Amino acid sequence: MDKLSFYLDNAASMPVNEDALSAAMPFITEHYGNPSSLHKKSMAAANALLESRKSIAYALGAQPGDVFFTSGGTESDNWALRSAARVGAAAGRNHIVTTALEHHAILNTCADLEKDGFSITYLPPDRDGYITPQQVNSAITDQTCLVSVMLANNEIGTLQPIKKIAAECRRKGVPLHTDAVQAVGHLPVDVQELGVDMLSFSGHKFGAMKGVGGLCIRSGFSIPPLIYGGGQEYGMRSGTEPVAQIVSMAAALSEMTQDIYHKIERTEDIRDRMINDLLQIPGSHLNGGIKNRLAGNVNISFSGVESESLLLMLDMRGICASGGSACTSSSKEPSHVLRAIGTSEEYIKGSLRLTFEDDLTASDVEYIVDAVRDSVEKLRALRNEIT
Ligand code: PLP
Repeated sequence: MDKLSFYLDNAASMPVNEDALSAAMPFITEHYGNPSSLHKKSMAAANALLESRKSIAYALGAQPGDVFFTSGGTESDNWALRSAARVGAAAGRNHIVTTALEHHAILNTCADLEKDGFSITYLPPDRDGYITPQQVNSAITDQTCLVSVMLANNEIGTLQPIKKIAAECRRKGVPLHTDAVQAVGHLPVDVQELGVDMLSFSGHKFGAMKGVGGLCIRSGFSIPPLIYGGGQEYGMRSGTEPVAQIVSMAAALSEMTQDIYHKIERTEDIRDRMINDLLQIPGSHLNGGIKNRLAGNVNISFSGVESESLLLMLDMRGICASGGSACTSSSKEPSHVLRAIGTSEEYIKGSLRLTFEDDLTASDVEYIVDAVRDSVEKLRALRNEIT
């Protein structure tokens, strides 16, 4: 029998979708012209850019003119925060409300803005990883120039009540940005229904090539550019557009959003079975609430285990997973998200994140759970031998 292999790290980066790759190929091999040039090789590229923008806007419930392509989620988050801060500072407002759960693309941008004199409120989540609209309401002051709350958390998968938070922000006249990098492609996301002013997304989180993403900016809401140059993206984000990546992103998003409710239902079944079986392992603990959570996210901790060792053992069994988030695993910093929800140090050290789509069978789940159980037992036995 072939060695089983499971890629359970979609939240870090998804495999490139086959349709996305074949849609992108002609823009690498044939229509490689600069979309701003005026010849055949560039016109096909310019047209593909237009069609991709329309298709992505349609998937997000936006107008094509509201979609601006960027290099990915980090750039989109930086753009939203820094530009809203700049507008705020000009109006004498230098306070931003965000949450302690955000990705470092938000947290480290906020830390940098603090050096420029901004004051930042980091809302604490409850023990399940949720923020309430009331918390946002109470944190807004007459100095607040922006609220930024993520739609779906990258580590524990919890979903925030963005629609209700948007209503509070509207009532107080403060713009709202949401980092929807983990949500777009995995949940139905409609910017109009959510009522947000800006929304960040990233292609490689839903099956597109890496190095492309976007910021959706509601018509009627305006921010200055972050990157200046030749005036691409309606003068809002200069730089020659990576057409192949953008085409791949449009194709991946339309593939992911097709039949999305059924995909979510199937993925939730897999998730719930996996959580139930993993929690049978003694000394285990589920991180993040189950009620409003990404369908394809399991984050579970084991006492007496270091997640790095667990990841190596799982890798040897053909299972690619993560501990905390991919971005923090290289820095060896304990997860700020698990800390924010009050997880004990013991459980923070032993966390395992499995992120997947709807294509795992019951026997796949059995194999994965057995591999985790066996690895946890071996690591605990080893630890007992050493101590
Ligand atoms: N925001 C969230 C919630 C993320 O999970 C990530 C990536 O993990 C980012 C932002 C950064 O996105 P990118 O890798 O496209 O820069």
